[in-house]
Amino acid sequence: MNKIIIAVDGYSSSGKSTMARQLAQRIGYVYVDSGAMYRAVTLYALRHGMATPGKGVDVERLVNALPDIKIGFSVTPDGGQHTLLNGEDVENEIRGMEVSGLVSPVAVIPAVRHALVAMQQAYGRDKGIVMDGRDIGTTVFPDAEMKVFVEASPEVRARRRVLELQEKGAEVDYDSVLANIRERDHIDTTREESPLRMAGDAVLLNNDNMTREEQMEWLINLFNERARNN
Ligand code: C5P
Repeated sequence: MNKIIIAVDGYSSSGKSTMARQLAQRIGYVYVDSGAMYRAVTLYALRHGMATPGKGVDVERLVNALPDIKIGFSVTPDGGQHTLLNGEDVENEIRGMEVSGLVSPVAVIPAVRHALVAMQQAYGRDKGIVMDGRDIGTTVFPDAEMKVFVEASPEVRARRRVLELQEKGAEVDYDSVLANIRERDHIDTTREESPLRMAGDAVLLNNDNMTREEQMEWLINLFNERARNN
């Protein structure tokens, strides 16, 4: 079977990253979390005073600093993936609420998107990759052989996110997580540069009422069909 490119797009906290990572593990593909890349740039901006909670982002300084920001991934022994910012493991920090609160304003900056999209396209050169994000099927890999668009209601997503953050020991309240999800949905779908939207040739997956096992079976079936036909 030829290797293909799999694009998984969808709303914040729809479970798409977990699903994309597990799919990649099952079929022996590389997994890339493009959201982690936007989060790493946001963390860099926060650390260097180019982004301030409640105040926003200093776009000019951040754009000038882009050549100094190197993003990578390391694979953990249990098959997980950690994000590296200039060689430092920042996996935990990029998942916190401070980064979540500023990542969408950072992700609307065209120069940030251009830099990250170029890196993402380079990861896909040899195919055999699963990448998840917002614009993977529309902008990064418009010719991907398999495109999935994941959706779930904001309330279901907020409940899942609270559990996930609590498992990591963070103190969070449901209302602020829900507000953050709604705000990111709004910014992600209305921004000018590659807004979140379903590609015409993507397959819709609404996982409000699906277990992880059901989702995986659905994905594997679709993968087998697409990989056979390419
Ligand atoms: O996927 P995750 O929720 O970690 O992504 C964080 C943020 O990064 C999103 O809310 C969105 O603003 C931005 N993003 C993006 N394009 C992508 C992936 C993420 O704009 N391909």
